[in-house]
Amino acid sequence: MSRHYDYLSIGAGSGGIASANRAAMHGAKAAVIEANSVGGTCVNVGCVPKKVMWYGAHVAEAIKYSQAYGFKVEQQAFDWATMVNNREAYIERIHGGYHRGFQNNGVEYIEGFAKFVDNHTVEVNGEQITADHITIATGGRPMIPDVKGAELGIDSDGFFALTEQPKKAAVIGAGYIAVEIAGVFHHLGTESHLFVRHDRPLRDFDRDITDGLLERMAQDGQHLHTQCTIDKVEQADDGTLTLHFTNGDSYSGFDCLVWAIGRVPATDKINIECTGVDVDSDGYIRTDLYQNTNVQGIYAVGDITGRAQLTPVAIKAGRQLAERLFNNKPNAHFNYENIPTVVFSHPTIGTVGLTEEEAKVKYGEQQLKIYKSSFAAMYNAVTPYRALSYFKLICVGKEEKVIGIHGIGEGMDEILQGFAVAMNMGATKADFDNTVALHPTSAEEFVTLR
Ligand code: FAD
Ligand code: NDP
Repeated sequence: MSRHYDYLSIGAGSGGIASANRAAMHGAKAAVIEANSVGGTCVNVGCVPKKVMWYGAHVAEAIKYSQAYGFKVEQQAFDWATMVNNREAYIERIHGGYHRGFQNNGVEYIEGFAKFVDNHTVEVNGEQITADHITIATGGRPMIPDVKGAELGIDSDGFFALTEQPKKAAVIGAGYIAVEIAGVFHHLGTESHLFVRHDRPLRDFDRDITDGLLERMAQDGQHLHTQCTIDKVEQADDGTLTLHFTNGDSYSGFDCLVWAIGRVPATDKINIECTGVDVDSDGYIRTDLYQNTNVQGIYAVGDITGRAQLTPVAIKAGRQLAERLFNNKPNAHFNYENIPTVVFSHPTIGTVGLTEEEAKVKYGEQQLKIYKSSFAAMYNAVTPYRALSYFKLICVGKEEKVIGIHGIGEGMDEILQGFAVAMNMGATKADFDNTVALHPTSAEEFVTLR
């Protein structure tokens, strides 16, 4: 007799775990199926190892600043392997936490790769498992370009697998991952070169903020190469790589090349065709606001839906789905508006709501009032590395409702969360002004903008 569940998630990443736990908390017989490591991308090859390494880079930066604060400290040696070992030990502890959570909630954890057999049945390790409700939460994997020599590079998974520090690394791509990995390399002492196809990375972000990033990268001596589209990669006799670009430029001597050009959805190997679930031309699953696919009883959450590929989005969408299915909340759904997000660059970028460019298109320039501030955070104002932070508010209408908050600067990753709450509540510029500043902080700039 085959196993049967009320709720089954294919994939135990951010979305799958959150939805199954919540379903089980409401009494559903729930299970997750996982082909690799529990926790998915975020825990194993995403947010968590990335942030640990970002902290490592942050420590290196602090050592650089320390002399101005009177410390006689020099960065004498950095052991990449120690950082990686401690990072992996931490991730192991997180795995343990997930398994304890499953036990407490009564969620069954099934190891293996699942494929659909029909709309209510999947096959894993040769066993057929059925469920009333099946959620596809299979996430994605890094994209590799179709160019000669592409196999000589690694992807973000390969970056986290590095046990030795590269001396000279090339990062190709222009999104979050490219910026974050190039920044970590640079601050940890690898000669880091970021290659982008256009005039800057993070082209969807507010231009004032990416201008600030470009300024800081130049000031920090991080190499950025613009208008570079990769043509081919070659390996020299000494093992190093040469990158050839379509504009005729070539760069040599790299002992590491990282592709960070986006991700592809993991729908191609799960026999989705047999369900009739609608996927778009890139392979992402089409869902409505309630995470429903076009097939009754099959849902999708997280990266696989192609919408806002962020861990908290996958988690919240998964939990709302479970609330709707098992807690008698027929209208529960995730709100895809105003999602705050942070890029772990150096310093960090935080953003929520519309960029100035988007706001102009949506409301017209006349309706907008833009407030900006540039200032040296006190942390580096006293060091020879004095650098500017840039904060910005986008407001609309007579009442100056805040519709965009953007910043690049020390601590921006921690600053944004509370302001995002205010924006979601409909705060106006006057509400910001009426809030007493916390002094001396960078955050106070947001309530003192003129
Ligand atoms: P995933 O976490 O990818 O989980 C999918 C799981 O499904 C995987 O474990 C996979 O093995 C499993 N699976 C796939 N197919 C099958 C199958 N057929 N059978 C069984 N199991 C299967 N987001 C942030 O919010 N903040 C960050 O700082 C951040 N940093 C990131 C850094 C990097 C380098 C990357 C790559 C991503 C980062 N993200 C970050 C994005 C975040 O990791 C994802 O948005 C999030 O993990 C998506 O969760 P998910 O549940 O949709 O998919
Ligand atoms: P993104 O989709 O964010 O960015 C990839 C970018 O690379 C494209 O926008 C494009 O920019 C450029 N690109 C695409 N193809 C090529 C090519 N062939 N050659 C050179 N450049 C190319 O992908 P990422 O892989 O960076 O990240 C995936 C998602 O993961 C992110 O969107 C984000 O949602 C999530 N993430 C979140 C993080 C966080 O919250 N801090 C951190 C890391 C990831 P252009 O058109 O300008 O060339």
